[in-house]
Amino acid sequence: MSPAPSGRPLVVGLFGASGRMGERVRSALPAHPGLVLGPCIDRDAPASLDFGGVDVVVDFSLPEATAPLFERMGGRPLPLVSGVTGRDADARARLDAHAAVAPVLWASNFSLGVALLRRLVTRAAAAINWDAEVFELHHRRKADAPSGTALTLAEAVADGRDLPWPASARAPRGAGARQPGEIGVSALRGGDVVGEHTVFFCGEGERVELTHRATDRSVFAHGALRAAAWLVGRAPGHHTLDAVLGVDT
Ligand code: NAD
Repeated sequence: MSPAPSGRPLVVGLFGASGRMGERVRSALPAHPGLVLGPCIDRDAPASLDFGGVDVVVDFSLPEATAPLFERMGGRPLPLVSGVTGRDADARARLDAHAAVAPVLWASNFSLGVALLRRLVTRAAAAINWDAEVFELHHRRKADAPSGTALTLAEAVADGRDLPWPASARAPRGAGARQPGEIGVSALRGGDVVGEHTVFFCGEGERVELTHRATDRSVFAHGALRAAAWLVGRAPGHHTLDAVLGVDT
């Protein structure tokens, strides 16, 4: 962890603080002794509440809240950890602009298991040239589809095969026969499923399935807080969860 200059705990500002993930981040925080909770902002927070005085911002809001997020940061070059998926090109450009002046770490999935799965998928995709399809299942209230993690896993297949990204993705998969080299991505929504992802490698007469199942959102919260502690004091630019986990190559 990067200590605050004075050795005091780092103050975490939380955006999207009342949502499912925001609530998990608040409950996970006491397990991170180097961090303390600062301003918690959701859409109904008073306009006067901002991220002044915080060391790092953790964002689990929604794509449409990107402009309000930067308003609350007030032009400060604050380290930013974001887990928001489904951002459009304009919103991603705002993150890129912030990364020019501050360290930014966006990840579609903060779990250690998915970090491992992504690496396994790249290796499998390179080793066997079978048809690759990604499938994901999430709770009924998830807004974006396919999930950011499913797209990350499809990109991992493309990495392993040197395929162009995102041109090789068919997301969402629709009707019609498979084109050579395409990576299909499909989604289901229902119930209270926290998040399940399977990458299928389908050959002739056999297939391999690599699956991750999250059963508790706390794994994402702990991963994001670990990333927040790591990010303080880093250089401006985009940083990766692999670097935080020590698995960067
Ligand atoms: P949620 O809908 O429960 O929470 C989103 C919160 O953002 C809500 O409290 C909402 O009021 C708030 N919000 C919306 N507009 C706002 C605004 N203008 N200002 C301030 N707050 C605003 O959703 P969730 O399940 O907690 O997921 C949040 C995001 O995190 C989604 O994009 C989801 O896909 C993503 N997610 C990422 C990971 C990961 O590991 N990266 C894991 C789970 C979820």
